[in-house]
Parts: sequence; C-alpha cells; structure tokens
Amino acid sequence: MRAERWVVKLGTGVLSTAAGSLDLHQVENLTRQLVELKKKDIEVIVVSSGAIGCGMEILGYSKRPDTIEELQACSTLGQPFLMHYYKKFFSFYGFHVAQILVTYFDLDSLSLRSNIRKLLEYLLLKKTVIPIINENDCVSFEEIRFGDNDRLSSHIAVLTKADRLVILSNVSGLMDYSNGEKKPIPFVDEIDSRIEKLAEGTRSERSVGGMITKIEAAKIAVSAGIQMQIADGREKDVLIRIHEGETLGTLFRVKNDARTFGADSQPLPKSQRG
Ligand code: GLU
Repeated sequence: MRAERWVVKLGTGVLSTAAGSLDLHQVENLTRQLVELKKKDIEVIVVSSGAIGCGMEILGYSKRPDTIEELQACSTLGQPFLMHYYKKFFSFYGFHVAQILVTYFDLDSLSLRSNIRKLLEYLLLKKTVIPIINENDCVSFEEIRFGDNDRLSSHIAVLTKADRLVILSNVSGLMDYSNGEKKPIPFVDEIDSRIEKLAEGTRSERSVGGMITKIEAAKIAVSAGIQMQIADGREKDVLIRIHEGETLGTLFRVKNDARTFGADSQPLPKSQRG
C-alpha cells in the first residue's frame, strides 16, 4: 500500500517576520515538523513561497514592487537565499532538499506535467529527500503567473494524487463574521456562494493571495477528492496536530471520499491562470 502523501504549502506570510525578513526561527520550526511527518512515514511535498519576499529584502524594497521585471529580479536573488536555509535546516536532520521550479506552461502541457509527476514520484522514493516546489517567478510573466502558489499547490496535489493538501498561512482559517463575531469555520463540506463571500482578499506589502485564492485552491483539490486544510502556520506544532486529527483552522472535506483524478490527462482550465 502506498504511504500517505501530503502537499504542504508555506506562504510568504508564514515564513516572514513582521518586518518582512525571512523568519529563520519559523523556517527551522516548520522544517522540524516536516521531518517529524516524514518519520511517521508520510510522503511530503513542500510548495514554498517566500522567494520574492527574500529578494525584496536583499534588494532593499520596503514595499512590493510594481513591475514584473522587479518581481522577477527579486525572485532570482530570493530563491537561492530561501533554499540555502531550507538546505541548512533539513540537513541538520540528515535530509536533502530538491528544488523544483515550475511555470504555468509546465503544468498546462500534458507531456511536461507527466514529466514533473514522474520526477516527483522518483524523488519521493528517496526517503531522505524533500521536494520543494515554487513557481519559476523569474520567467513567469504577468498574464500567466499563478502568483500566490495556493492554486499551484492544489495542482501539484492533484498531479501527485496526494491524500491531503495543507496550506499554512498567517490566518487561522476561513472566518465567519456573522453575529458581529469573528470565528473560524472548522469544516466546509460545500463551497457555495456563502463560503465564497466569506473569502476576503488580503494583499500585503510582501505577499499575494489571500482567502480568495485559497478557496480556488480548495475547489481544485476537493473536486479531485483531496481534502484541503488551511491553518495558521505559527500555531504550535500545527502539522503534527493536524496529523493527530485535531481540528485546527478550516478543513474542506471531500464528499463520499470520491477520488476523481485526471492528473495527466487534462491541461489546466484557463480560469486557473494567475
Ligand atoms: N512564488 C512567489 C515567491 O516565491 C510567491 C508569490 C509572490 O510573492 O508573488 O515569492
């Protein structure tokens, strides 16, 4: 029987300090938890943002640049910086990191997505390797960028027939604002207009995305039979507690446990472009 497989997406917000630097304590903490999952025999694929945020710090931007050239430049400096720390922290536990950078076109092409799937399957056979995926921002241009990695992570989950997609963010799930109170919604069984209304877009100086793209990611995952969880990446031992079945953040549940992958056979719907 195949091991349980998780795709874990780490957003820029969850990897950065309030001042916008890479939060090394947090990267180390998440690394430790990912290693614990591996030791519980879970296959883990990481989708990590943070490259553009790191590059902004290196190049001295205090707010997100406007032009695509500047964003591309930030990614070229930030991506190796980010990977340096993943390598450092994972190697402490005897793990190796494998960097995979993909574009919309790679996942839209049947032959390229099949190659990416085969590559990931091969890497997952190597028990001490952690594949870390990001969008190849330095060659992704405005019209075709995924941008936020939420949708990218759900496409990777579908492609690799993952059992679970976990999106760690700096929000603790989808919030319900009714009755003047702000409460996280623990379970979503159907993504209807009420749920879409609750998804507030958030855009910070350093990151993109917000709840709207997380809901889009949930639709992609759930329609392929993959449950998706959004949780606060700073919650203590968040990944371990999710594994232990604790109700944290928001879980988008799958009806009838239907698994309907068409992983290699379909290009991406155009509506799923960034
Ligand atoms: N792929 C991007 C990164 O690694 C995340 C999104 C963005 O900030 O545009 O930084």
